[in-house]
Parts: sequence; structure tokens; C-alpha cells
Amino acid sequence: MKTIKKYIIATLGSHSSLQILKGAKDEGFKTLLIVKKDRVDFYKTFPFIDEFIEIDSYKDFPKIEEILIKRNVILIPHGSFVAYLGFEKNKAMKVLYYGNKSVLDFEEHRLKQRKWLEEANINMPKLFTNINTIDYPVIVKSYGAAGGKGYFYARNKTDYKNKIKQMKSKQFIIQEYVIGVPLYVHYFYSNITNKLEIMSIDKRYETNVDSLGRIPLTSQQGLTIEPSYVVVGNSTLVLREAMLSQAYDMGLRTIEASKKLIDKKGLYGPFCLETVISPEQEFFVIEISCRIVAGTNLFTHGSAYSWLYYDEPMSTGRRIAREIKIAIQKDKLKSILG
Ligand code: AMP
Ligand code: AMP
Repeated sequence: MKTIKKYIIATLGSHSSLQILKGAKDEGFKTLLIVKKDRVDFYKTFPFIDEFIEIDSYKDFPKIEEILIKRNVILIPHGSFVAYLGFEKNKAMKVLYYGNKSVLDFEEHRLKQRKWLEEANINMPKLFTNINTIDYPVIVKSYGAAGGKGYFYARNKTDYKNKIKQMKSKQFIIQEYVIGVPLYVHYFYSNITNKLEIMSIDKRYETNVDSLGRIPLTSQQGLTIEPSYVVVGNSTLVLREAMLSQAYDMGLRTIEASKKLIDKKGLYGPFCLETVISPEQEFFVIEISCRIVAGTNLFTHGSAYSWLYYDEPMSTGRRIAREIKIAIQKDKLKSILG
């Protein structure tokens, strides 16, 4: 059996890096954190990080890539990779990288993403291409993983026309605004065992949309408060069990469609379907994230669901490391790297 000893698991110091490296350590890997200088003291307080590479800014990442390659580093991408390094730099990386990079094209481009989810028969909010047909509330969303930054809500056509003038991003979509419960399902699909698991579920806390209810409507009248959707934290929740199998089937269909549409390997590893559930208990998928999402940080010790699959604490970070370990031992590492 091949040994994991010659590999190091590394990631960027932000987003879900603590969970990823704790999981890697628990699985027996050496760990390395690439971190901005001003954060290093904080990260050094954790015992499971073996090594640090300090950088001044995320933009300096390509400068250290050669070192990572020489040292057999396997890089685990998370939300900060696309947000700060950008889509092109992610694709151009030569270092061992967990996940299928072809998926990035479909994730980044909102219309391609929609085509993929349609192919998977996933219910989504209506998309508007002609502003004259906007006859109920909409949300206008820029491209790229930005954690809700720069989005705006418009209650009708006139409201839209006023607000669009301020939109900075040139690329955006206009989506029906679904009033319901936002719920994020965290999946893990193994392309070694071909098994899909629901690892955990979260809901986000977004400012200021989630705090508007703290001020009575009568006190809001006359103030120009616009809802914003910038995520600041996450909280846990479990789904009605009767709806759980629907959530599972959506995940399965997403994987199957990815194999047809993207490339033979399709999507594997951690991913998240971001949903809003209507009063009719219907899931509307607003977006897919094709990597570990920060909501999984709630579950460093496992979740109500992961505990049902594993008789040991299993975070998504640890599940990734376990997959890499199995792949190395079975000599299948290539099949899980992008
Ligand atoms: P960060 O490294 O924390 O600045 O995050 C990188 C990207 O992930 C940004 O686009 C964030 O908006 C997004 N993100 C960070 N934390 C969370 C969270 N707790 N829930 C959802 N998205 C997040
Ligand atoms: P996203 O970047 O797609 O994850 O969206 C960020 C946040 O915007 C979500 O967590 C929701 O609060 C809100 N949001 C996005 N799309 C919709 C929608 N179609 N209807 C209602 N709220 C939405």
C-alpha cells in the first residue's frame, strides 16, 4: 500500500482553512498554511498546523507555487481561492489541486450553471432577461463568488431601473426573489466509491437582510434602508426528515448531469446546493458552490448527519483528507486531482 507520508496538505489561511487542516492532521497528513503576515499569530495558536508560508497578499500566491510543487503539496481550494486569486489563476495552477477544475467554468458563468442545473431537473427561481417583464420582486446578482456582496433587491420594474444605475458589475443576472427559508445543503460525492453523502446543513446570517426584522416596520417607515446580503456568519439547522430524500436526490441528479455536461469526471468532492424553501415546501436552488463551503465550519466535530454515516467525528475537511488518503493508498490519486 502506498504511503501518505510524502504528501503535505495545504490551503490558504481564511474561509475554512482551520477545518481543512484539522481534518488533514486527524487523517495523519503533514499540514501547511499559506497565510497573510497579519494573520499568522492567530493561526499559530492551533496545534495541528505543522508549517507556515507567509505572504504579503493573496496576489503573491503564484510566486510560491514552485516551492509547493517541489514539496508534493496537495492544495485544497475553498471560497477564498476564487474570491481573491480569481478564476483564471485558479485554473492556471500547476500544483497538485484537489477537485475538477473544469467545473469552475460552469460555476463561474451563471448561465452555464443554470443550464447544468436545468439538465439535472433542479427547480430554480425564474430568470428575467427582459426587464419589461419584471412583475414581482427580483434579486440582481453579479457573477463570481462574492458572498452576496453587490447584490440588490428590486420590488418592481421602476425600482429596478433606479437601482441598476448603481450596479458596479457589468455581468449580472436578474432572478425572481423567493420568500422562504434559505437552507444550504453540504454534500460530499466520492468518485472512488461513487457514493453521495449529505454531510451537514446550515443557514446563513446576512447583514442587513436578517436583522431588518429587529426593527418594527412602523419604525422603518421613512428610513431609506435597502436589504443587503453580505454573509457574516452561519448557524446550524436540520431539515424535516420528509424532505431529506428530496435534498439527496437533487444532489445525485446534479452529479449525474455534471458527468454528461462538464467532462467524464464531472463534479466530485464537497459541494453545496444553496436553496430557498417556499411555504409549499418546494426547494428553489439559487446557486451551486463546487467546493467546501464556509457553513461546514459549524461542524468541525461532525454534524447530525455525518454522525449517521461515520462512528467518529467527520467534518467536511476531514472527509476530504480521508478521500485523498484512500486515493493515495489505492494508487488513484490522479483521478481526484484537477
Ligand atoms: P473569506 O476568505 O472569509 O474572505 O471568504 C472568501 C469568500 O467566501 C468570500 O466570497 C466570502 O463572501 C465567502 N464566505 C466567507 N465566509 C463565508 C460564510 N461563513 N458563509 C458563506 N460564504 C462565506
Ligand atoms: P448567493 O450568492 O446566490 O448564495 O446569494 C446570497 C444571498 O442572497 C442568499 O443567501 C439569499 O439570502 C439571497 N438570495 C439569493 N438569491 C435569492 C433568491 N432568488 N430569492 C431570495 N433570496 C435570494
